[in-house]
Amino acid sequence: MFKTLLGFNTETSPSPPKEGDLYKTINLCGKSFEIRYGFYEERDRHSQYAEPIEIYPDFIKAPQYTDDGKPFVTAIQPPCKSFDGKKNVNSVCEDCRYYKHGEELIGICTCPDNAQ
Ligand code: SF4
Repeated sequence: MFKTLLGFNTETSPSPPKEGDLYKTINLCGKSFEIRYGFYEERDRHSQYAEPIEIYPDFIKAPQYTDDGKPFVTAIQPPCKSFDGKKNVNSVCEDCRYYKHGEELIGICTCPDNAQ
C-alpha cells in the first residue's frame, strides 16, 4: 500500500531484447522467417542510445518467392518500378495496390510483372 501511495514501482520490468534474440517466427505461404533483434546500420550498433530492433529480411538483396511464384516483400521496402498508387518520396510497398498484407511487416507482391 505504501509503495502505491508513494509511487514506488518495485515490479521488475522485462529486460530489453539483446542483439540476436528471437522476436518471432513468421510462417507464410510455404516459407518460414525468423525475425531477430539487431541493427540495420553498423553505426547504430555502436551508439549508446540505439537499442536492437526487429530485423526483417532484405528481399531486394535476397529475393524469396511463395510456392506459386509471388515475391515476398516487406511493407517498408522501397517501391519497384511497377508501383501502383499515390507515390511520393516516402512511398513504400505498403502504399502500392499490389501489396498484400501477410504477417507483421512481411507481405506479398501480387504484381504479375514481378511473379517468377
Ligand atoms: S508491392 Fe510489388 S509492385 Fe508494388 S511496389 Fe512493392 S514490389 Fe513493386
